[in-house]
Formats: sequence, structure tokens, C-alpha cells
Amino acid sequence: MTVVAPSVPGSGLSTLPLPAVVVVLLVEVGAVAAVVATAPFLAWPRPTDVVLAAVVAGLSVVHTELATGIERIRRRSSETSYFDLSSVWTFAAALLLPPVLATAVVLVVYAHLWQRVWRPARVPLYRHVYTTATVMLAALAAHLVVQWAGGLPSGATDVTGVLGVAGAVVAYVVVNTVLVAGAISLSGVGSSPSELFGRWDDNALEVSTLCMGALAAVALGAAPGLIALALPPILVLHRAVLVRQLEEVAYTDGKTGLLTAAAWQAQAARAVRRAQRTGPGAAVMILDLDHFKAVNDRHGHLAGDDVLAAVAAELQAGVRANDVVGRFGGEEFVVLMPDLPGAGRDELHLVAERLRLRIAALQVPVDTADGLLTISGLSVSIGGARVPADASTLDQVLKAADTALYAAKRGGRNRVRIAGPAEIPSPRRGEATEVPTAS
Ligand code: GH3
Ligand code: MG
Ligand code: MG
Repeated sequence: MTVVAPSVPGSGLSTLPLPAVVVVLLVEVGAVAAVVATAPFLAWPRPTDVVLAAVVAGLSVVHTELATGIERIRRRSSETSYFDLSSVWTFAAALLLPPVLATAVVLVVYAHLWQRVWRPARVPLYRHVYTTATVMLAALAAHLVVQWAGGLPSGATDVTGVLGVAGAVVAYVVVNTVLVAGAISLSGVGSSPSELFGRWDDNALEVSTLCMGALAAVALGAAPGLIALALPPILVLHRAVLVRQLEEVAYTDGKTGLLTAAAWQAQAARAVRRAQRTGPGAAVMILDLDHFKAVNDRHGHLAGDDVLAAVAAELQAGVRANDVVGRFGGEEFVVLMPDLPGAGRDELHLVAERLRLRIAALQVPVDTADGLLTISGLSVSIGGARVPADASTLDQVLKAADTALYAAKRGGRNRVRIAGPAEIPSPRRGEATEVPTAS
């Protein structure tokens, strides 16, 4: 599987930093050299191998054609990267065929993908060529591991053959991942583990695809007709990617990128149950922007949307990694703190106050009918409550936080109220009767 995000047209190899260019060219030349080096001198491939290569390449073309329908649905719901599960065929070819023929399969698979998927998605050609080279090297590594282990499993007791196939999966993944991560790192487009190595479930999908490729190779070796059985499961696997993406879309609020109310509540309900049973307490905050209607009225709904996105990013940046921020609806946000140390009331107040100050300091550039403006002077009222101190279910804690929020609004807005016997008052400040301003 290769994951390549759509990219801007015109971005070529020359736009990369020099070390990245050098590595890309070295890998490409190295891939060709490695395949040539393993080719037997002046010996033609066996006709049966040529037929097998044609069958594997043909199935890959059929797979890509059928999968582009699924991809079209995926693209309609998101602009994210394309998943191709073609490694089922390139890996099967690597295990079954001599390197020259396996390379020919890789070239057919990737030329077809370029024509049908990457070129229409306007991915720069150099990236596709680099991906092809990394797959050639990964396939060669997998081939060498299987050969070293004595070839594909030949019978029920051939443990070495089975270990060889498992080793080939590891070799394919390691070579491909290291080369892709190296290029990403040198290009300066990513540095976090998930940017370099992909997400955990993407890697699980890649390994599943390679397992299918291994089974396809063994089936082809035993009875070539069996390979057709690999096509339906790989298409179902492809649909699983679609399902996962639709799930992500359903969980994510389009305007702010935060969790939707339903997704947030599902996580919060789990945290509340945990807090009720054991461990440190949990807390919930509801945040409502003050006089937000005025932003829409003055600058339009699109400017209002920009403000909502900026507030969401600010809230996300203002909490810890395991706190969960969601959009509750309209101009209301929710924050779950799943592990609140000690009795937690002061801690909760501190965090809420920090968020309030961050929103107050926010300056949001917006493009309006009157030109570029900066909206400032935003404020937010916050209500907070805890489990188990103030409530024992999610419904109850939300209700308690909402009552506290209402008290904050009534108290003059731009302030924090925490549920409990003795409300902690916010520090003195002017009442937020002012509406947000623009300059
Ligand atoms: P208060 O201080 O009492 O909370 O005043 P408010 O104006 O923030 O509250 P009110 O409930 O009167 O208005 C909420 C506004 O939020 C009205 C609605 O148009 C706006 N709003 C809700 N959802 C969105 C959205 O997705 N985008 C934009 N731009 N505005 C939204
Ligand atoms: Mg509201
Ligand atoms: Mg409001």
C-alpha cells in the first residue's frame, strides 16, 4: 500500500532540498542496478513464469479498475490520500517470480496506477517514480528472503518455508517504510512518527495486504486458478478503508475539525464510567462564545465560521493531549478532562480560566466583504463540573456544567463558574457587555 496525498500541480523534484533530491535519485538508480545485478546473464525467463507474471499484472489491473469506483466514493467524502492495496500483487510477484519478472509486474502495476489514479490526482511524477523504485527494492528484498529460506513452503512440514514468507513480509515492510520515511524526513514535509511511518491502522492494513499477497503466491504455486480467489477479499479489504474513512467523517465536525457532539459524548461517557468506578476523577466544561451572533451580523456567517475554527484550534492547543475537545453545537464547545488529579476543583477552574484568557487574547484574521479584518475582543463563558464530586453520570455532569455556564452568563459573561457548594468566583473583570470588535 502506498499513501500519497494529493499535491499542488507544478511541484517538482527541484523544489525539494538537495539531500532529498540526492536520496531520491540514489534510490531510483539503486533499484534499477539491484534488479539488473540479480538478473541471470543471457538467460530468458521460463515461459510459465512469463504467463504467471502476466496473470498477476492482469489481476492488478482488474483490481485497480474495480477499486477506482470505491475510491471515487472515498474522494467525494474527503480530500485525503488515496490508498492503493496493490502490494497484494507486487508482493505475490516478488515471492513467486524471478526479480526481473517481479520488477516487470511492479512496473505494469505502477504505470497503470499512474494513468488511472495518480495523474488525475495531480501527484507529481517524481513522487510516483520514487514510490515505484521503493516498491521494486522492497519486492527484491522479499524475494531474497524467501530464496534464502529455500523458496515458498513446499509441504505441510516445511516450517522454514513458512518462516521465509513471514520474513519476506517483514523485509518488504521495513525496506518500503524506511525509504518512504527517509524521503519524507529529508523533504521536510513531516517529522512526527505518524507523519513518517503512517498511522498504526494504516500499517495494519499494509500487513494484511501483504498476508493476502503471500496466500495468493502460495495458491498460484499450487493451482494457478486459485489466484482469482484473492480478488474478492482484497476488494472487501478496500471497502474497509472506505468504512474507516466514513467513520472518521462522521466523528469529525466539518467546520472546526473537532469531534462531533455524538463522538465526544461517546468518549465522555466512557471516561465518566471509568471515573465513577476507580481512579482519578473526570471533569467536563461547556464553553459558549459570548455575543457570537454579533460576529455573524457584522461580518457574515463565513467570517463567523473562521472564528469558530480559530476558537476550536485555540481550545485544542490550550488543553493536554489526553483531554478531549468537541463541538457541542453552534458556538458551544465541550472539553472532557478524563483524569483530574485530587478533588480537582481548583485544577478544573485553573484550566477553564486559562482557556478563557486564551480566547480573550485571540485575534482572528477574516476575509470579509469589507476586505481583510482582524476580529478580536472575543470572550467565552465557561461552566464546569466533575465526576464523581458533582455528578455520577454523563447526563448529570453535563447538566451541572450547563447550570454553571448559565450562572456565568447571568454573572456578566466572560467568566468561569464551577459547579459545587461554593462557587469559585473568577478574578474581577469588566462585564463582557462589549461585543467582539474588528480592526
Ligand atoms: P450569548 O452571549 O448569550 O451566548 O449570545 P450569542 O449571540 O453567542 O448566542 P445566541 O444563542 O443568541 O446566538 C448564537 C449564534 O451562533 C447564532 C448563530 O447564528 C450562530 N451560529 C451557530 N452555529 C453557527 C455556525 O456554524 N456558523 C456561524 N457562523 N454561526 C453559527
Ligand atoms: Mg449558545
Ligand atoms: Mg453564545
